[in-house]
Amino acid sequence: MSKDQTKTDDWSVDSARELYHIGRWGEGYFDINAAGNVVARPRQDKGASVEIKSVIAEALSRDLHPPLLIRFQDILRHRVASINNAFRTAIKECEYEGKYQGVFPIKVNHLREVVEEIIDAGDQFHFGLEVGSKPELMAVMALQDQPGDLIVCNGYKDAKFIRIALMGIQLGKRVLIVIEKLEELKQVIAISRELEVKPMVGIRVRLQSKSHGIWAESGGEHAKFGLTTAELLEAMDFLKSEDLAESFKLLHFHIGSQVPDIQIIKKAVQEAARFYAKVYKLGFQLEYLDVGGGLAIDYDGSRSTKDSSANYTLQEYANDVVYAVGAVCNEERVPHPTIISESGRAIVAHHSMLVVQVLGSVSKTDNNAPVSGDPTDHNLVTELLYIRDHPEKSNPLEALHDAQQFREDARNLFTLGHLDLPDKAKIERLYWEIGASIVARTEGQDHIPEEIVQLRDSMGHQYICNFSVFQSLLDNWALDQLFPVMPLGRHTERPDVATKLVDITCDSDGQIDKFIGLNETGETLALHSLKGGKADEPYYLGFFLMGAYQDIMGDLHNLFGSVSEIHIFLDPEEADGYYVEEVIEGSNIAEALDAVQYDERELKRRMKAQIDAAIKSDRLKSSAGMRMLKEYERGLRDYTYLTF
Ligand code: PLP
Repeated sequence: MSKDQTKTDDWSVDSARELYHIGRWGEGYFDINAAGNVVARPRQDKGASVEIKSVIAEALSRDLHPPLLIRFQDILRHRVASINNAFRTAIKECEYEGKYQGVFPIKVNHLREVVEEIIDAGDQFHFGLEVGSKPELMAVMALQDQPGDLIVCNGYKDAKFIRIALMGIQLGKRVLIVIEKLEELKQVIAISRELEVKPMVGIRVRLQSKSHGIWAESGGEHAKFGLTTAELLEAMDFLKSEDLAESFKLLHFHIGSQVPDIQIIKKAVQEAARFYAKVYKLGFQLEYLDVGGGLAIDYDGSRSTKDSSANYTLQEYANDVVYAVGAVCNEERVPHPTIISESGRAIVAHHSMLVVQVLGSVSKTDNNAPVSGDPTDHNLVTELLYIRDHPEKSNPLEALHDAQQFREDARNLFTLGHLDLPDKAKIERLYWEIGASIVARTEGQDHIPEEIVQLRDSMGHQYICNFSVFQSLLDNWALDQLFPVMPLGRHTERPDVATKLVDITCDSDGQIDKFIGLNETGETLALHSLKGGKADEPYYLGFFLMGAYQDIMGDLHNLFGSVSEIHIFLDPEEADGYYVEEVIEGSNIAEALDAVQYDERELKRRMKAQIDAAIKSDRLKSSAGMRMLKEYERGLRDYTYLTF
């Protein structure tokens, strides 16, 4: 801890670091400074730190409001260099005779600025791109404009897909068409004959190795992609019969994204390397072994085999892949291939974070003076008052059971019409007051009964956050994937409120109630009381490691559209140590409506017709009607989220 660090009671910035595990998932890219604010260190300890608060202020000065996605372009560059350097180190250590040439699967983040940055940073490493669809190939064909550029084409293909891929070969790129099912091979050969181009073919094999976790379905014998061993042999016979054995260049597998356990990766690579060696020995001089994606990110910092973690580092991954391929090839006496990895998540996850403003809180016990008794109270109120005021008469669990019983009785009486609203209100408040005292009485005990743990979790404050889980955090909603979340300031203060986070969509699923923890997932997140802090300072949360998949999968639930973005580049010449490279405004309301077929002009026309009718029938003055129309029209240009 630095000397100048401010402290409140026995709380310090180090305590905050520990609570939110920032040092574990942050990989040196994020930290908290002595003032208690979160900073980004896009070049880890080799460059400047940027206070996130200062980026928010910069965005606000440009009329961009949270929810706000911040992209650190330097992190992207750093990740590209890190993965390449890790493989270079491994190749040297293992005396591997081949090379490493990675490709970035653009499905993990399609944004042009992201892909261009990766292309630029990857140039010195001959880094390539991977595509899985026609639109992706169209984009990549134009972006990667140098002869020799590597493009790997995965996914099911039709004739047009194949034609464009072959066009790439005609332009001098190395475009590898990976066969996902046998019929594709026949089509590739037919079209390449028609275009008089020699194809470069890869084959995806279905390994028996299978991952576990949320994304495991891409691997194993029942995967939807790839050839079985029998189909692989058939494909090889066909290539030979067509005199195209030398077109078979690459062997590929992919057992799923976010493989948390290195043992699974090692086994899969060994199995694939054996395939490579056997195919080579059958007379096919393959150049590449493509180990797919799967390199995991330690989102929860637990270094474990849990779904949101990884029990290995980037360097360990590179070492194990290189070693396994080298060892099998040495044993089988075949040349060492160029190793391709299609690591997406590992390249882009860290570079972006989402800033969300907390708008307020909802709580079971807040803001009310304790319930007081009254001679006219219903006897259920009196019973509950007795439980609350005499904690010494029952143990916490007994008190809970009694309170539950009286609350249930009250519910039945109310349904039958025998309980008034004021009594019902008192009973509900008393129940939660008793709940709070039960939780307080058991706090710190070695064993807290399950029912009291559930009570405690159900009592957590809900912090209302200005964003949509469905737009910005889809994997959390759909797959229970965990992302690190923490406040962006006030880390010199102890966070003393147990919270769950709810978004502003009208959907009860739009909430976050699972948070990273080293040993087990937490059901609440410790945050600061909204009443503390500087009165005029909004309370912001950061959602981190958002760069992979989340940006591009969001949906328009409640018509909350894409969020605004600000792209940051470090620059020592600038006063704040960085400059804003780009700003992308989030969708406005008209754009979100357009995506679901509402035409802006038609909406305006219909509003005008209603206003005209109201004016004609004297329900509205013309001037008020015109103001109303203007406001509606201006409103269509507003951000889809709440603005303050
Ligand atoms: N390659 C293929 C074929 C994929 O399907 C995927 C994603 O699932 C990837 C690469 C990227 O995986 P990751 O993001 O785990 O690196």
